[in-house]
Amino acid sequence: MVSSINNNSYEKNIVLLRSAFREYYFKHSKIIEIPERIEEREFGFMLFEAGMIRHLSFRNIGELLATLIKEVPSDVYCSNAYYRFPTYDMHEKQWVGADLIFDIDAKDLHLPCEAMHSYIICANCGEPQEIKADVCIYCKTGKLNHVSIPCNKCNYGLKKEVKHLVDFLISDLGIKEKTISIYFSGNNGYHIHISDIEFHRLDSQARSDIIGYLIGNDMMTESIGIRKAEASSDGFLVKFPKSGMMYGWRRRIAQKLGIDQTSTTKLHNMVQQKGGYSGFKAELLKMAKDIGVRIDPQVTMDVHRIFRMAGTINSKSGLTKIRCNNEIESFDPLNDACLLSDKEVNVEMKVPIKLKLRGQSFKIRKETARIPVYAAVYLICKGLARVN
Ligand SMILES: [Zn+2]
Ligand SMILES: [Zn+2]
Repeated sequence: MVSSINNNSYEKNIVLLRSAFREYYFKHSKIIEIPERIEEREFGFMLFEAGMIRHLSFRNIGELLATLIKEVPSDVYCSNAYYRFPTYDMHEKQWVGADLIFDIDAKDLHLPCEAMHSYIICANCGEPQEIKADVCIYCKTGKLNHVSIPCNKCNYGLKKEVKHLVDFLISDLGIKEKTISIYFSGNNGYHIHISDIEFHRLDSQARSDIIGYLIGNDMMTESIGIRKAEASSDGFLVKFPKSGMMYGWRRRIAQKLGIDQTSTTKLHNMVQQKGGYSGFKAELLKMAKDIGVRIDPQVTMDVHRIFRMAGTINSKSGLTKIRCNNEIESFDPLNDACLLSDKEVNVEMKVPIKLKLRGQSFKIRKETARIPVYAAVYLICKGLARVN
């Protein structure tokens, strides 16, 4: 987040960011992943001072790289969809299919540590705010942005959710592990891309159904064998499904409840304890929400979205969206995705900061500091520092 006030320091911020990003695209072009069927994709750029341009197309990675080095966008996007005519208007593009994509973002996890490392910054004048309000207390016009300096707990929580999602995808949806790509988003989340061609043609509704399954929206008591039965003395009956309890949601619920398939008595008693069919149903829905995956449904349902491209820099942090399939356990975004230059620059801090980047701890209390470009860019992107 680079604040948009038109002054000298804003200009200097942009100069630093552009030069750091350009150097990255020049030096680290191998990290940029060539999207499959690149010529069928729509690309979009966010430019530092000119906003978004969409409906771009590139025939090969060389063409794209040359443009990145020349234009130096703040953010680079590529469609998850394939089109016959990617540069045409949306209704004339002729949609062919789209990769299935999931977004796991810290904001959806509501982690308790969030408040410990959040700042409120004015989107207009860039000033940090002491208190929550509708507009900036200094310029009286700017909307307020929340920025976060994610901690280890955030990363641990996010990776746990990623593994949870991957478990659902493989064991419940039958997705092959080799078609699953896991990326750090470049800020405070992870993106999971499924390249399995079986899912390409799914429309938005079908993708929404997948989401419904993953978050446990439509969990029914009947699916674990509890039926309403007015005639019975308890008002309900328990009979385990013929296909068993060892698969999908049934397995997850059974595990959570601590029941096995040998006897229905335990489950029967539980339902009774919850006040019968309706009481247990409410309990089950709550439990399903707990067990389900926390994902952003909009991202998965949108089959025309342009999505941050793997290997490019996220201007919310200066970190790279980067693949981390094999080393997800040990992956540390503040180290492994921090790839900008280590030349030193002077910055003016807006708030005192404690931060660990690329293995180096920064504890900046004073107003000005001389720090490496990767740290300066990170803090400027977060709106917490400016070029001095
Ligand atoms: Zn302001
Ligand atoms: Zn945290």
